[in-house]
Amino acid sequence: MTAMIQDVSTMQQQALRWRAEGLVIGFVPTMGNLHAGHLALVEQAQQVADKVVVSIFVNPLQFGPDEDYNRYPRTLQADLEKLTERGVDAVLSPRAEQMYPKKRGTRLVADPALANIWEGAARPGHFDGVVTVVNKLLNLVQPHLAVFGQKDYQQLRLIEEMVSDLSMPVQIKRAPIAREEDGLAMSSRNQYLNAEQRRIAPALFQTLIWAKQQIKKGVLIEAVCEHACQRLLQAGFEKVDYFVLVDRQTLQPVAELNVPSVLLAAARLGSTRLLDNMEI
Ligand code: AMP
Repeated sequence: MTAMIQDVSTMQQQALRWRAEGLVIGFVPTMGNLHAGHLALVEQAQQVADKVVVSIFVNPLQFGPDEDYNRYPRTLQADLEKLTERGVDAVLSPRAEQMYPKKRGTRLVADPALANIWEGAARPGHFDGVVTVVNKLLNLVQPHLAVFGQKDYQQLRLIEEMVSDLSMPVQIKRAPIAREEDGLAMSSRNQYLNAEQRRIAPALFQTLIWAKQQIKKGVLIEAVCEHACQRLLQAGFEKVDYFVLVDRQTLQPVAELNVPSVLLAAARLGSTRLLDNMEI
């Protein structure tokens, strides 16, 4: 039986009961509109936890004033069916007023060294909103482990950093990027794409593969990234926000392949920003 929980204190009490019984709690936070990528995270949690909680909450704090908070796809009924089918133990879908009863209240600040670059540069305040909501959700669900997708690489690093900096008693697990058959990373925002944009979109993944090959061959990293931007523009992207090779820990650009690194990319098709990344 999947419990549908809207009330935050009900969630916390349920978590405390499970903990008292010695059960391992796994948690998957989402904004809903679930696709196979989300469900893979759920499966990963189910493999190691006795009880799995999925939250569905479109977090207003992480959206900028000109962003898509109001039109973000909300498909609660269909999401609940998918989660029930997969035997999730509880779905937490609180209302925004319950998560944030005060207009302004206590907020967290994400590690600036990681938060003010790449996505954070394009979306000021975004990661403060992310770490604030994740912190609150972790306090409600009190999981032993929580699963996050590598699709949002910078977000994942910031959450790992928050957990370490604040000594939070939870283990963060990484899940690989789930992709469509043509390589496009699954995302709720893909449905904003029209048919022409959807046709162009897999070029982001293809360009990451191309860039990885070039870099492994020893071509100058800066030249590869510049060329990759051009390829994306030629493919039909309107703007490339960044296409960079960075250190997996610090997310700072690397000029040589002497540390574990990851290619991070964000590019725009119309008003939709697509994100993708690839470890090297
Ligand atoms: P979202 O609902 O977009 O906030 O995502 C919720 C969680 O699912 C985050 O940890 C994301 O990184 C993860 N996620 C979203 N899309 C994918 C994907 N294509 N592959 C793996 N994880 C994903």
